[in-house]
Parts: sequence; structure tokens; C-alpha cells
Amino acid sequence: MTFRQARYDEPLVWELSPPSEGAPGPSVPGLPEKLRRKKALRWPELSELEVVRHYTRLSQMNFGIDTSAYPLGSCTMKYNPKVSEAVARRRTAAELHPEQPVETVQGALEILWRLETALGKITGFPEVSLQPAAGAHGEFAALLMVRAYFRDRGELGRRTEVLLPDTAHGTNPASAAMAGFTTREIPSKDGCVDLEALRAAVSDRTAAFMLTNPNTAGLFESQIVEIAETVHGAGGLLYYDGANLNAILGVTNPGRMGFDVAHLNLHKTFATPHGGGGPGAGVLGAGELLAPYLPVPRVVKKGRRFALDYDRPKSIGKIKSGYGNFGLDLRAYVFLLSHGEEGLRAVSRRSVLNANYLGQRLGRHLPRPFRPLVKHEFLLSGAPLKARGVRTLDLAKRLLDEGYHAPTVYFPALVEEALMIEFPETESRRELDGFADAFERAVTDTPENLHAAPRNLSVGRVDEVRAARDLHLSWKDLRERPPKP
Ligand SMILES: *Cc1c(COP(=O)(O)O)cnc(C)c1O
Repeated sequence: MTFRQARYDEPLVWELSPPSEGAPGPSVPGLPEKLRRKKALRWPELSELEVVRHYTRLSQMNFGIDTSAYPLGSCTMKYNPKVSEAVARRRTAAELHPEQPVETVQGALEILWRLETALGKITGFPEVSLQPAAGAHGEFAALLMVRAYFRDRGELGRRTEVLLPDTAHGTNPASAAMAGFTTREIPSKDGCVDLEALRAAVSDRTAAFMLTNPNTAGLFESQIVEIAETVHGAGGLLYYDGANLNAILGVTNPGRMGFDVAHLNLHKTFATPHGGGGPGAGVLGAGELLAPYLPVPRVVKKGRRFALDYDRPKSIGKIKSGYGNFGLDLRAYVFLLSHGEEGLRAVSRRSVLNANYLGQRLGRHLPRPFRPLVKHEFLLSGAPLKARGVRTLDLAKRLLDEGYHAPTVYFPALVEEALMIEFPETESRRELDGFADAFERAVTDTPENLHAAPRNLSVGRVDEVRAARDLHLSWKDLRERPPKP
């Protein structure tokens, strides 16, 4: 089946329409004269079919999880079950107002309370807040809690440093800096934290160590107990970046590993939609030391009623309007209910199996740094391609022509020409094999073809320098200053 290919300069609905005289807008009885429209309103004069085709074509220019697999390591793009969408779009959920009196939203509060309780079990923490709107927001809020904790202990002037491994997600050092800390990088050894380097770096200046486990090389930090002892021994706190918890769900948790606070992304781990900077949910779990500092309000249960509690004197305060992103919380809650405890463990087993199966297959074509047994994602190095004048970027673009979204590339920085691949548990063995075959075609293609990719998409290879310097921020820009060929 072939479609008429949509292009970036697809005409707008207005331009498809013949010039029209316009028509008066709807007349509103009693509208004062000065508020009435002076010029007739111009409607595009197109048939329903023309409009439907126009928007359907535009939608085909998009890449989404409902069209093809999205092997984006560290960003866990999994299928969003339609049952969650159906529940979240019901009027009783979608039309709630965040300022409604609590007596009128008892059902919603109960869902939030139950979700917090379930996430407490999953993270191993006594208290959970659903407020942060994204992973990075959760990190920032948690670091404000760390600040407040040391202020209360009279140690804030001294504990100014946040330590991070060189595999840390970019948001970690950014959040630490935003919260007023200086950052210090701890090197890795064979893909995991170099314990000796960490021991040498901790001091009475250490406020916290931020760690992702399994880390961004897909490896479980096997010395996690020693890491926790080292940081706590120096009086610092341990922060767990649980954006992607899918490898350890129901198997272990940050509380058990000795962490003091964690964020987890409902929009990666629990199949709620994300991407394009859309709304997220970077919920926070905290152990006993930091729980009093969690943002307000907290959802509390009093007898059979639910309420919002603002009376938490040590709290860092409110960090978001309303309570959180309720629609995402609800989708995650449906995901948890539909899986159950055993189902969540199956999610972990399946995502780890997928990563190891695909890692084995792709490892025939490119080297895999570090040890081969991974958790939910794995790394490849495209360095050997350089001998043929090909880079990881070319390979990623070539995969687009095979109908797949590109994997994460050039992260983490400690692997030369890195590709970071994750096929979550929602992808079948057929999909994994299909991707492995496509990868083989791509990696063995000629340098000319690799450099020219993508050829089959509505937008070709973007000139990144010009894209940054010569911005076209609206369709009008594009019309008035068409990009030079
Ligand atoms: C995605 C991610 C984050 C940031 O989450 P956002 O919701 O994008 O702000 C932080 N850490 C890790 C490891 C991630 O994968």
C-alpha cells in the first residue's frame, strides 16, 4: 500500500480552500454591538472528505508507538493500553477541576491515595508524593528536600556537593545545580560506579549521591550495598533515579537498596504516554529521614473520607498547581491494577529477557561494551563503523527508513559512538526479530546509502547547524523564507 507522501510543506487547510467571501459568524442574541465581528468570518470552503484527508495525511507524518517500535534506551517507550485511555477520558475523570471542594472529588482522592500506597510498596518507601510533573521536576523537588534536611541539621553551609557517576542522565547534574549544589563526577569502571573513586570523593561536603540502578549502561550496580554504606558513612544522602523502574518491578526496590529518596517516572515505567515534552509524572518516594519534607498537599485518609493535608511544617511546600497530573496518575493506576503483583514481576522478567535476546543478536554486528548480561536496555558501540566513514548517526537515520524510530545515540558519553537500545516488555519476539533483521540490513548497507538516509520520510536529513541558526518557528516563516535547497 502506498500513500501520497506527506511533506513538511504540505498545504494548510486554508491554502487548499478557494478564496471565499466569508460568512457571518454565529449570531449571539443580546451581544453588544461593539463586541460584534466587523468583518465576516472566513471559513475554509472544503468538503468533509477533503478535510479528513488533509488531517489524516498530516497524522501520517508522525511517528508513534501505535505505528512501530520505539527502541529508545533510557526513555522506555512502551505501548499504552487502550483501557487506560478509555478510563482517563471518561467525563468523571477528564472534567475534574483541581480547585473543586474535596467533598466532591472523594473518588479521585481515593485513587490517588491507593496509587501512593501501591507505589510505596513498589519503591519500598513509607511515603510517596504524586506531585512532580516530570522526572526532572521530581529530581529538583527531592534536592530541595535534601537542602531542607541539612538546613534543619545546621549542615547546609558545609554540605554543598552532589556526586554523580559519569553515566548519569543529563537531568541529574542540571537538577543539582538548579537546587544550588555544586556537582562532582565519579568515574565508572567496567560500566559501574568505581567504588574506590567514590570512597575517595565522599567527605563532609557531600550532600547526596545521585544514582540510577540499573544504570544507563543497562547494568545493575552489584556493589550497591557498599555504595550506600560509603555515602551514608560520610553523612550524605542517597538519591535514586528510578525513571525506568521496569527491570526491577516486584523484584527489588530502592528502599531495600538503602536509598533515602527516589523519583520514578510513571510515564516510562507504567505505560502512560510521553514524548515531546508532554505532561509526565515524576513521583517521589521518601524514606523516614526525608518523608517530612515531601511537597504539600499530601492525600490523607481520615476514617472513610479522604482529604488534602497542608499541615506539614517541614514540607518544601507546593511545587505544582492542583495535585499532580491526574490523568497520568489514573493511567498508571489502571496499569497497576490490570497487571497485579505477579504481572509486574512478569513485566520485569520480560523486559530483561527482551534486552538480552536482542543484545545477543545485535552483538554479532557491533561490539557491546562491558559485561553482556544486562537488565532492561543495552549498549552498542558504533566505533568500528568509522573505518568505513560511517557514524552511529548515519545508522540511526538508516533505521528510520526501515520504519523504526532511532535508538538513543551518543549517550552515555563514556561509550564511543554509543547506541542505547530498549525494547520494553510490550514488544513481541516477532518485533525483536524484525528489528534485528532491519539492523543487519542497515549496518551492512553501503556508506553512500547510510549517508543519504533517511530517504523514505517526509523530512530528509536535517542540516543541524542551519536548523539551529536559521530558525523557522511558524508555517508563515516557512512560506516567507523557504529553506534553500
Ligand atoms: C527520562 C529520564 C529522566 C528525566 O525524566 P523527564 O520526565 O524527562 O524529566 C531522568 N533520569 C533518567 C534515567 C531518565 O531516563
